[in-house]
This record gives sequence, structure tokens and C-alpha cells, in this order.
Amino acid sequence: MKNTIEGFGELVFGLPVMEARLSGPTFEALKKTIETGSMLDASIADEVAEAMMIWAMEKGATHYTHWFQPLTGSTAEKHDAFIFPDFKDGVVTNFSGDELIQGEPDASSFPSGGLRATFEARGYTGWDPTSPAFIKYDAAGAATLTIPTVFCGYNGEALDKKTPLLRSMKVLSEQTIRLGKLFGIDCGETMAKATLGAEQEYFLIDLELVAERPDILQTGRTLFGKGASKHQQLDDHYFGSIKPRVAAFMAELDAELWKSGVPAKTRHNEVCPAQFEIAPVFETLNVSVDHNMITMEILKVTAENHGFACLLHEKPFAAVNGSGKHNNWSITGPDGKNWLKPGDNPHENAKFMTIVVALMKAVDTHADLLRASVASAGNDHRLGANEAPPAVVSIFLGDQLTDIIEQIEGGGANSSQDGGDIHLGVDLLPKLPRGNTDRNRTSPFAFVGNRFEFRAVGSNQNPAGANIVLNTIVAEAFDYICTKVEASVAGGQEFNAALQDVLAEIIKEHKRILFNGDGYTDDWLEEAAKRGLPNLVTTEEALEVLATQKAKDVFSKYGVLTNEELESRYNTYVEGYETIIGIEASTALDIARTMIVPAAVTAITEYSAVPAVAGICGEISSLLEKTVAGIAALEAAEGPAAEIAAMNELRASVDALEALVPADLWPLPTYSEMLGV
Ligand code: ADP
Ligand code: MG
Repeated sequence: MKNTIEGFGELVFGLPVMEARLSGPTFEALKKTIETGSMLDASIADEVAEAMMIWAMEKGATHYTHWFQPLTGSTAEKHDAFIFPDFKDGVVTNFSGDELIQGEPDASSFPSGGLRATFEARGYTGWDPTSPAFIKYDAAGAATLTIPTVFCGYNGEALDKKTPLLRSMKVLSEQTIRLGKLFGIDCGETMAKATLGAEQEYFLIDLELVAERPDILQTGRTLFGKGASKHQQLDDHYFGSIKPRVAAFMAELDAELWKSGVPAKTRHNEVCPAQFEIAPVFETLNVSVDHNMITMEILKVTAENHGFACLLHEKPFAAVNGSGKHNNWSITGPDGKNWLKPGDNPHENAKFMTIVVALMKAVDTHADLLRASVASAGNDHRLGANEAPPAVVSIFLGDQLTDIIEQIEGGGANSSQDGGDIHLGVDLLPKLPRGNTDRNRTSPFAFVGNRFEFRAVGSNQNPAGANIVLNTIVAEAFDYICTKVEASVAGGQEFNAALQDVLAEIIKEHKRILFNGDGYTDDWLEEAAKRGLPNLVTTEEALEVLATQKAKDVFSKYGVLTNEELESRYNTYVEGYETIIGIEASTALDIARTMIVPAAVTAITEYSAVPAVAGICGEISSLLEKTVAGIAALEAAEGPAAEIAAMNELRASVDALEALVPADLWPLPTYSEMLGV
């Protein structure tokens, strides 16, 4: 039997296809660029483009697209056909190296947050050879050669999420290599790579029901809806057996993802009825981000084939669980090993503990920035509610690692030296049971045996944002540690002692970020406030972090975002947030005015002649009055905070009406219908 999944990667112009279709030297040059991040040799581009085109046309493609990730949070594409005039009234097929390397999609309508005015609006796309091109089929079955690219302005200013992601990976690699050298690891040009495995939660709702919900169609979530009597209380959905219709969907989903080279691995029912999760095997960060974007797209298309709408919103239904995207992050060193895996010997363990301590410094110093990186209108419904990590960012290490951290802080671990290797408390480490550290699901940032899991990312978000921050702040912490240790060693201090000193100092300063308890409790919020940890509850508060000097400094120091680029993100996200809340408010008004009020009026008319239901009729009347007042209040509300408060108020009376108005008059599919319970 062939030891692979049938069809895996069949739509990907990956290394095996490149090797088969490119000349030896061209393949080697391209492979080197992919593996080491070195500059692309432009002279090979024509050959690569031609091979890509022929391969894509064999798969039925007539067009190619530079595929990019603008600040909107989704992906963008503009198709060009593989044709060129032959100047004899016909065309020849053609795809040049120049077209592969650079595109000029104009794309002036994408948000740039002031980075460019419309008159100088041209945006340029540039090929990212480190993420493979692939064939994408649209809903009608037409194939397009899809080439992952960055999206920049005329002077190279980043207009997308991919450019800063790649920059952040580069700086993390540089600092990781530097750290490795302190530990005697030197692998020449080979890069260190951040890795990501993004667990993706989603809902599947009957397409026909969704078609009758203008709120879901317009905003991705229900703006009204009385909770179903039975929802997730019995935990009978979580990990339950998968119903046939969903199983058929999942089978097609996996098959499609595998063809596209996405290593989808895990699938299961989630906590809420109609909620599910898919997780891939982890990959190099930028490829994994691309694959998550592809996954979100294929989820939606495949769902429609099965009569479902796939909802990726963070909180499609009130009062039941929302959806997140657990961001499993680690670093593969230049030696090809996972550096967040506790090692087998004291020396490796010292490196491991150094990285854990660096993470403490990074996350404590920039907890606010991590929070800002996951800020969105949808995610506000999750963070801070008792189902998802709180808006307070803290780190869970588990008892054993925390104990070792305390030993290092106490300096005691320094005393046990063995053959030149430091222990740093590592005599305890071999006892660390792998995979046993994941007991705490309430922590936003948890060590889970061989990686950190950042759980505050929203289901609908491009994971690039959170990882740009993570890479940058960890690079800064590595830089700090390396600079100190290098200086001490140059000044004559022994390496082990120098490292111990720096780690102890960092732990003293940043140990407040460690919290192993229940993150859902009010006690923790009080305790976190005492420790001075930021608690940025709303997107509006969180986004302000992007305007701080501290944020500007760390991004510009490491060349990840210039001050102007950061400012443009701040502007874009603030405006985007206001727009989303504005759309929600206006959709809520439409539904209340044109669907809810008439239903209540009809109910009153029908009931008013029947004395036996006078009580119910009176209740409906008074709720109708409240609804009408709520409409007026929402119309008058200005700005996101006021609009949200007014929407909540209006929703309360509408949901109460839903409990009284005859079911056949109620104009919207109910929660129990949609959640299938
Ligand atoms: P759980 O629900 O217990 O967190 P899952 O299997 O659903 O487990 O998801 C774990 C995710 O973490 C997977 O995507 C997996 O590939 C990923 N992962 C494992 N090791 C690493 C690593 N070294 N770097 C990044 N992600 C990793
Ligand atoms: Mg997980």
C-alpha cells in the first residue's frame, strides 16, 4: 500500500511537482529560497512560471491570481487569464516570470488606514515562494492557479497581514539562531521557524433557515433569539457521535483540504449543539496561516454543498458557547528540533527553560498587545464571558514547571552543576509528564507539553495578527537575554552563572503573569487587577494599545511594522469596528421594525377578542411598547458603545416577545430550530 493519503497535495505546486517539472539548477535554487529564506534568483522566474502554468492548465485552470491577505481579515484575489495576443487576431497562452513575481492589482478600495491616498492608490502583490501555489476551484467548479503573495504599496509599505508576518518570522529566526549559538548550536544559514497548528471551531446551520435570518446573512450572528430550552446543558453534543449529514460534510471537507495540501487531522463535535472543530497538523507558521485561510473558505463552500451555512462568527448564538481558534505556537530551531519540548539532558533543558522564561517576559511586557491582536467586534462576546479565556492575559505553566521557575528565581538551581552543564532545576524536568500540562482550559496562554496555546484568537480572525505579535515580542525577549548573557560572558562571567542571573532577574520581574488557577472567576479578575495586569474588556479599549509608544517601539525596533504602518492598522481596525457595529445596529432596526413589530401587532389583534388571553395580550402590548421605545433609542444611539447598549435593550424586549407571540406568527427561525435541539 502506498504510504500516503490518496490525492493529498494533488492541487499543490509543491516540492515534488517542482522537482519533477523544473530543471535541476532551477529546482535547487528555488528549494534553497524556500528553505533558507534567501533572496529569490529572479532569472529562474520565467522557467518556474511556465512550469506552473502548464501544470495548472493540465488541472483545468485558465486563470491565475495573486492571492493576498488585506487588512479586512479575509483573503483577496483578482484573476488574470493565461493569454497574450499573438498579433494575428488570436492569443497564445503565456505566464511570465514577471507576472509570477509581481502583480499590480490596483485594489485601491482595500483599507489602508491612511497609508495611501486614492490618487496614489496602487498596491503591488509580490510572490511568497515559501508558501506553495495551489489550484482553487470556485463554487462553479472553475479552476484558478492561486499564488500566495504579499501586498504592498509603492514604497514597500505593508498593506496586508502577510508582510509583517514574514518580517516577524525573520526576526524571530535571527534571535533564535543567536540564542542557539549561546547553547552551542550553529546550523549555518538554516532558519529557525515558528510553527502553528490552528484549531478551528465553527457552526453548521441549515441553509434554508439561515436564508430567513437577515441578521445572520448581514452580520454573521443572531441579533435576536430566545434561547432554546435545551441547548448545551447536558453536554450531550461534545465529542458525541457525528450525525450522518454532518459526517458526509466532514468527509468531503477533509478530502478537499487534503487535495489542497492542508493536513487536516482532527474533527469532532464541540460543546454547543451544531458546533464542530477541525484541527490540522502543525506546519511552518506562514504556510499554516495560509492553510487556515483556505480552510475557512473550503468550510463555507463545502457546507453549502451539504445544505448548511458554515458560521465562523465568534458568537453566532447568545447564551451558548461561541467559537475560537486555538493558536498552537512553537519554535523549530535551526537544528530542526522543537525548542519548546523539554529535553532529554540538562543542557537541552536549560535552553527549554530559557525559552519559557523569555515567553514570561514577552507576554507580561506585552499582554496588552496580545489582547489587542485578537480584538474584534465578534470576539468581544467571547473574551470575558465564562466560556473562553478572559480578556486578562496570563500564562499557565502547570505546577511542575512553576516549581522549577521558582527554583531558578531562588538561585538554588544554580548550585547543582554537572560536568559544565547547568541544571537550572532540570533534575526535576525528566519527571514532567508530557501532555499532562493541559488541565486548565480557562487560561488564555497555556503551556501544553511541547508548545504554547494562545486561546483568545477569534474563530473568524486571520491568525496572522496574533502571531505577528507573538513572534515579535518573543524575539525582543530573546534579544534581551542574549544581549545580557553575551555581555556578561564577554566580561568574564561563566555562561551558566550568567544565564542563571538573567533568568532569575526576569522571573522576579515578570512572575505576576503566571496563573495556574481558574481564569473564569471574579476572584482572578480582582487578583489580576492587584497584580497590575491589564484587563481590556472591549475592542475599543484594546485597540488603543496600538497607538501607544511601547507598541510603536517594539514593532519598529524589529522592523516588523513602521510607525506609519502600525498607525494605519490602528485606523483601519477602529474604523472597521465602528462599521461592523453600525451594520449590526441598522440590521437590528430593520428586523425589529419590519418583522417583529408587525408580528406583535397581529398577535394583539388576534388575541384582543378573546377574554381568556387578555393577560397574555396585555403582556405582548407592553413588550411591544418597549420594543417601539427600544427602536427609537437605537435610532438615536451614536457610536459603538451606545449602539451596543441600545441593541441589547431592544433584544431583551424582542426575545421576551418571542416567548409570547404565537409560533406561526413569529417571523424568524428559532434557536431550537437552528441548533437542531
Ligand atoms: P487539543 O484539543 O488537545 O489542544 P488538538 O489535536 O485538537 O489538541 O490540537 C492541537 C494542535 O496543536 C494541532 O493542530 C497540532 O498539530 C498542534 N501542534 C502540535 N505540536 C505543535 C508544535 N510544535 N507547534 C505548533 N503546533 C503544534
Ligand atoms: Mg488545543
